[in-house]
Amino acid sequence: MQLDNTVFILAPIYFWSIRSKSCDNICNLNIEPNQISSVSLQLFINNQWQDAVSKRSFPTINPATGEVICQVAEADKADVDKAVKAAREAFRFGSPWRRMDASDRGLLLSRLADAIERDTAYLAVSDADSWVQVFTVCVCMCVHRYCAGWADKWEGKTIPIDGDFFCYTRHEPIGVCGQIIPWNFPLLMQAWKLGPALATGNTVVMKVAEQTPLTALYVASLIKEVGFPPGVVNILPGMGPSAGSAIASHMDVDKVAFTGSTEVGHLIQQASGSSNLKKVTLELGGKSPNIIMSDANMAEAVEQSHFALFFNQGQCCCAGSRTYVQDTIYDEFMERSVERAKSRVVGDPFNMKTEQGPQDQFKKILGYISSGKREGAKLMCGGGVAADRGYFIQPTIFGDVQDGMTIAREEIFGPVMQILKFKTLEEVVERANDTKYGLAAAVFTKDIDKAHYISSGIRAGTVWINCYNVFGAQAPFGGYKYSGNGRELGEYGLDNYTEVKTVTIKVPQKNS
Ligand code: ADP
Repeated sequence: MQLDNTVFILAPIYFWSIRSKSCDNICNLNIEPNQISSVSLQLFINNQWQDAVSKRSFPTINPATGEVICQVAEADKADVDKAVKAAREAFRFGSPWRRMDASDRGLLLSRLADAIERDTAYLAVSDADSWVQVFTVCVCMCVHRYCAGWADKWEGKTIPIDGDFFCYTRHEPIGVCGQIIPWNFPLLMQAWKLGPALATGNTVVMKVAEQTPLTALYVASLIKEVGFPPGVVNILPGMGPSAGSAIASHMDVDKVAFTGSTEVGHLIQQASGSSNLKKVTLELGGKSPNIIMSDANMAEAVEQSHFALFFNQGQCCCAGSRTYVQDTIYDEFMERSVERAKSRVVGDPFNMKTEQGPQDQFKKILGYISSGKREGAKLMCGGGVAADRGYFIQPTIFGDVQDGMTIAREEIFGPVMQILKFKTLEEVVERANDTKYGLAAAVFTKDIDKAHYISSGIRAGTVWINCYNVFGAQAPFGGYKYSGNGRELGEYGLDNYTEVKTVTIKVPQKNS
């Protein structure tokens, strides 16, 4: 099938006034129809738009209505081969990308951030299942700007080895990096992967999630516009088992970075092991404990715990999906949390009053709600479908949840909150750690000793104290245990895209 080169995506006109400290300048948007841009629906390889070799395409669905928005080219192994070839050529020693000054690489990333800022209006609505995603445009820019700053500061060391030698290290790019990203924060996940890879001089073949290809393709057009050389970034919409697995097992891909489910993370790791032992970083699932001590500020704890779970429809790998509440405040916390969940506005994802849009894993979430009821948790509110059309689920809270229940052990990825009761500090740390995951955790308390005790005792990559979902481009994020390996963001994130080379030079002494 021959695809039209572009499609015009119509977006509703809304006045957004989301205030965020770092994004004040762009988050007051008055979107006019003429600001809505077009996006290519083809594969982006070697700075060119191309149909898939198979000529196949697949539909992009609007989860608010269930309707097909457009058809997008579907990459598979043959296209991955083409993209890897382009990325390898762009990485060739002596290529424009390899010869480019580090400061110019940084400049390109800064220009990409500027172009994203210019086109915020479009990017905020394309692929978004809720206006809440507008924040991701701001954060995405911050990530690119942060990484841009690193490009010419990624320094090696001089090492005082024994003997008459001068020894130093070079931090070099790994090579062709395969990147496989999920659908829950399409733009943000793309930035988390592209920023560090490009700042450190790698080339990229990225497979975007089949549910949300549009923003990634739009960013591809910006990548070309701002002047990245051909082949440095290649963007492929496609399916996991075909395009994704072709990247993971490709003999000429030097590293793969994946964000998604723990199940697929296993497959990626295996594919690396049975191909060329490519480096693997994984950002996987979570079942994050959120601990509310009896001395916490009740209003804050209720609101933040609500945010911890329900933000982005519960579709966050770090969602606070096990809310442990100390027994003496359990009843009051439950009552207030139920009240808050009932007041949550579900519906049209682009109405500014809406707090919760449609779900991408509708049936799976309803299955978990049934399992909660079946296994004896107490349904405190919600539990059903919230609209006749589209994929909307009521904000749901289960009380009396026990650690062994399926809803307390598995990642639901939906608006379903589990509240569990505990008595002592020691007990809650042990129970919080009784999970295969270790992505994030939080504690609400006014007692700094308790906060330190819990943050040291919890085995997770991030611990928030009296807050939740606070991210910075500067601070690393990633998981312990089945939640993955490696870190994204911050200096640690750039490390994962770098090889360290030791260079040793003989320095003859004057009289020898
Ligand atoms: P989620 O459940 O959040 O959709 P997945 O792990 O299924 O998470 O998907 C995350 C990304 O991994 C998507 O881009 C998806 O297409 C891709 N993917 C799925 N299966 C595979 C696979 N077997 N090999 C490589 N990538 C895959």
